[in-house]
Amino acid sequence: MKVFKFGGASVNNVERIQNLAGIVKLFEKEPLVIIISAMGKTTNGLEKVAESFFAGNKEEALRLFDVVKQHHLTISKYLLVTKFNECLAQLTDFFTEVEWLLHDKPVREFDYYYDQVVCIGELLSTCIISHYLNEAGIINEWMDVRDLIRTDNTFRDANIDWTITSERITMLNNHSNIFVTQGFIGCTDDNESTTLGREGSDYTAAVFANILNAESLSIWKDVEGVMNADPKLFPDAQLISELSFTEVIEMAYYGAQVIHPKTIKPLQNKNIPLHVKCFLDPSLPGTVIHKKNSKDLPPIIVIKQNQALLHLNSQDFSFVGEEPMSKLYQLFSKHKVRPNLIQTGAINVQVCLDYRADKIDNLAAEASTLFDVQLEKELNLLTIRHYNVTVFEELTKGKNIVLTQRTKETVQVLYSE
Ligand code: ASP
Ligand code: MG
Repeated sequence: MKVFKFGGASVNNVERIQNLAGIVKLFEKEPLVIIISAMGKTTNGLEKVAESFFAGNKEEALRLFDVVKQHHLTISKYLLVTKFNECLAQLTDFFTEVEWLLHDKPVREFDYYYDQVVCIGELLSTCIISHYLNEAGIINEWMDVRDLIRTDNTFRDANIDWTITSERITMLNNHSNIFVTQGFIGCTDDNESTTLGREGSDYTAAVFANILNAESLSIWKDVEGVMNADPKLFPDAQLISELSFTEVIEMAYYGAQVIHPKTIKPLQNKNIPLHVKCFLDPSLPGTVIHKKNSKDLPPIIVIKQNQALLHLNSQDFSFVGEEPMSKLYQLFSKHKVRPNLIQTGAINVQVCLDYRADKIDNLAAEASTLFDVQLEKELNLLTIRHYNVTVFEELTKGKNIVLTQRTKETVQVLYSE
């Protein structure tokens, strides 16, 4: 059994869906579970629907939902002939489900409504693609993943109940050869839809791979594989053909947008290799991520923008010891912020964080009961793993460096332009 995952960019128009069919055709003799995201920017569109609805703007919510609807109808009209009516009936059921909800008044929390609306994106995309594959002779079974993935009711960030989910997914083993189902969504035991956090489809795919003891998971993307830097910022970024699970976790931690970080654990636990492949050219080798430690890695470069640096100074000139530090960490936990870098001195602590006005301003205000606080904004955090002097000098030349932190493997530089 192999598991494939196709993200939003790989299914965002008619040609891309036809291309997906071409890829699946290459593997159709083997048992396959295909996990698919919502098309293109559908999830963002549905987020706006949920927001308008919750703000009491029913007309606007319905209008925005209609845009999503028309987009999916147009794509199905282009793609389908014999299966069009069958697909339309199923799509209409999903549309109706959301429209009923949008006619109500919100009485529960926002995150609940968010999940009930946003989950439709994946249901629509998989419904169309499954019908299209069947019409193209790639016989497959569509599954509503909400019948398989059981979660708690932490809406927008639901946690999977592995026992129930395993029981259900294991039953798939002797069913069809090819399954098509949704990433990112699940269901509580009260039959309410949940989502697993933005970009969560990679994680769903890893959960399936783990439970089915898959021989591999392939994530199909619009890039050649995992690169050592963002090719949009560094045109001569190079492909890394092999990486260890640990290296990928490290890269994600420093902000590389490679794979959803939750994806790695379920694969690592069962030693299942993860292939990052290019959906534009399946013959390219891509990147394999597995247990083996990768040797001779090139410098891996990650830049995080919109960083803030909190300067915290002891109020009475005493050392910043364990007491104030433990209170500081309690504040991080309370405000749900994760520092990207911390440097401590005798009477001061510097903390680099992703800047989000709502969170960081509150955090800074509360920290001022413990320290004298200054907040510096509009900074960038450069991380280089496996650095060497040449790369370091090249990337920091002419920058106004605020802070540097270095270990044997990794150097981090906080700077303003
Ligand atoms: N459609 C969801 C999102 O855009 C999940 C995913 O693409 O992985 O976040
Ligand atoms: Mg996506």
